[in-house]
Amino acid sequence: MSGLPGRSSPVQVVVRVRPLLVHEQKQQASLALGDDGLIRVAHGDVSFQSKYDATLGPSRSQQDVFDVTRGCVDSVAEGYNSSIFAYGPTGTGKTHTMLGSRVEADGKGGIIPRALESLFSRLDQMELDAPGSTTAAISFIEIYNEKIHDLLQPFKLEAKQAFKGMVPRKADLQLRSAKNGAVLIPGLQIIKVQDVKSAMELVMRGSQHRAVRHTEMNHQSSRSHSILQISLERKLPGQVVGTAPGLLKSKLNFIDLAGSERWSDHGDMTHARISEMTSINQSLSNLVTVVARLTEGKPTHIPYRDSKLTHILQDSLGGNCLTIFIATVSPAVEAYEETVSTLKFADRARNR
Ligand code: ADP
Ligand code: MG
Repeated sequence: MSGLPGRSSPVQVVVRVRPLLVHEQKQQASLALGDDGLIRVAHGDVSFQSKYDATLGPSRSQQDVFDVTRGCVDSVAEGYNSSIFAYGPTGTGKTHTMLGSRVEADGKGGIIPRALESLFSRLDQMELDAPGSTTAAISFIEIYNEKIHDLLQPFKLEAKQAFKGMVPRKADLQLRSAKNGAVLIPGLQIIKVQDVKSAMELVMRGSQHRAVRHTEMNHQSSRSHSILQISLERKLPGQVVGTAPGLLKSKLNFIDLAGSERWSDHGDMTHARISEMTSINQSLSNLVTVVARLTEGKPTHIPYRDSKLTHILQDSLGGNCLTIFIATVSPAVEAYEETVSTLKFADRARNR
């Protein structure tokens, strides 16, 4: 069940090691990267090693990381669904990898801005060849404690509010399955975008809203998953493709997962923290089960519906879809245990 010709598996697992941060620079590194995707972590008399589709060390740039995902991004314009995940403990560079930090050497940020740029330049080319043939739209949600929140909703409501005196709706969104198996989220904002600039504006507004929400709700972004989805529609004259005649539909998902660190060591856990922790652990563990079953390539039962995350992504994982899993780790010896557990999780996703 290979996603694209030339790919052995529809699931690629990549490890990115961030540099030591300024305050960590007196620490020692615990890991070594070999050629061909080999990574070795050693501390005391314990060591762990494994091989991945790619490993990107601390000196590798945002462009290098994007290059690893480029095939996946490009294939979306050709009608494939793709998902790119960032998995790892808080502070290891998931958001840096997906979205980017404000100061970047080349000013372009992480995978999301680069992917949008690449995608829209392809769409522009298609529009030149056949005007009016492509449509792109964006949705941006967050899953916290198995509840779905629309990160773009308040902006739409702000405008309505000004006219009709409406009060913004804070309720979480529900999932529905359509008869054809498609997953729907009634009420979710799916906003059409014409170019990179307007797409990035929505991405930034959604991200800012995410930060504000967390301050209001008194929890950290590290405890929720976010899914940015770009959906494309392409009219193909004279062909019958997919569900509607001559309409090629595809989706590209960017998922910044909740921090994978173990939360359980704290003695003073409140009921809310326990339920938060259980929810994160269950959804991450379900995700890896789903990805591992897909990697097997055998028609076994795939438990998409066991968590909101995999249920939402049901039509973007498996089948003709490409998935890239980017595991982010810290090189610091202090993070040794978290690093090994992240790499073991990545191995499970590869079905090792
Ligand atoms: P996470 O989203 O996994 O919690 P962040 O992306 O917020 O982690 O990264 C934590 C810190 O490390 C940030 O200050 C970020 O700028 C920095 N950082 C992460 N990855 C890199 C990298 N590859 N190069 C430079 N700084 C990085
Ligand atoms: Mg983050």
